[in-house]
Amino acid sequence: MSRVKLAFNWGASCGGCDVSILDVGRAVLDLPQTVDVVYWPVALDYKRKDLEALDDKSVDIGIVNGAVRTSEQEEEAKLIRAKCRYVVAYGSCACFGGIPGLANQFGRNELLERAYIEAPSNTNEAAVTVQSVSERDGFSLTLPEFLPEVRTLDQVIEVNHFVPGCPPSTATITELLETLGAIAGGKTVKRILAADKCLCYECPRGKTKEAKKAEKLYRPHELIADGERCLLEQGIVCLGFATRGGCGSRCVAANMPCRGCYGRLPDTSDPGAEAMSALAAVAGDWEDYLPTQKIFDVLDAVRDAVGTFYTFSLPSALLKRERG
Ligand code: SF4
Ligand code: SF4
Repeated sequence: MSRVKLAFNWGASCGGCDVSILDVGRAVLDLPQTVDVVYWPVALDYKRKDLEALDDKSVDIGIVNGAVRTSEQEEEAKLIRAKCRYVVAYGSCACFGGIPGLANQFGRNELLERAYIEAPSNTNEAAVTVQSVSERDGFSLTLPEFLPEVRTLDQVIEVNHFVPGCPPSTATITELLETLGAIAGGKTVKRILAADKCLCYECPRGKTKEAKKAEKLYRPHELIADGERCLLEQGIVCLGFATRGGCGSRCVAANMPCRGCYGRLPDTSDPGAEAMSALAAVAGDWEDYLPTQKIFDVLDAVRDAVGTFYTFSLPSALLKRERG
């Protein structure tokens, strides 16, 4: 059996997705028997010219992590698309925009001024911000362009499969590795390697009707949650009810609420709106015994609505900002 040719690449991401491949443990040692890595610049000494030199569609699968923020990332995403027969968006940044996508709350110039001029740790009296082209001593220096917004991979190129997670769990990565042969062989494979049901179905925490008795919402650091009971019932905003399962309940098992890195559920169009709507329904139940103002106070406890409800998904949301 011929080995599956793989190309890995990354865009706007932290590098954790590349490291997560190693989370499969000893199984990674078996990979050379089944896959042939032809490009992986983070792990091996590949340069972009190596990718450019490959024949179009000569690579079976391109696995891309990271969102698209710069012109270089956009060019490389298009190169991967040209060279690979199938493309997998790997990790929450590639699938939904991820943490880098929270920058879409601000305009491009606002971000540059904050990073290069206003941040308290800066010394930049000339107020210089990053330039795509700068001339100095007769030389022209170029940098990738900082694009107006963060985009998901499938907003830039066609994507065949999605592997969500920040990073994907070991079980999800193992499923992907076991599926590579089928993808390369053109067999029918799930488009999204995650559960179709919400995380609450696999969450080990007990659920009761006590949510109606919670009188306020807490931020995770404001109380030590009961490790056995549903976090939402204790007043901690947990997005498990609006998030695909498949991660192994990693955060809730560590007494932290789910923030939605496995993405929105099937048949929903906006992850944050879905979560807010469900939470508002819970708050509505409190109206029987709380004055209306108290309900607003409860909702005010969500200090950072975008950061809470769109932690990993802002670029994929219907919610749009004014472009700067
Ligand atoms: S809301 Fe969170 S803690 Fe509660 S059952 Fe769902 S995943 Fe578990
Ligand atoms: S609990 Fe939620 S945020 Fe945490 S890994 Fe699972 S899907 Fe991601």
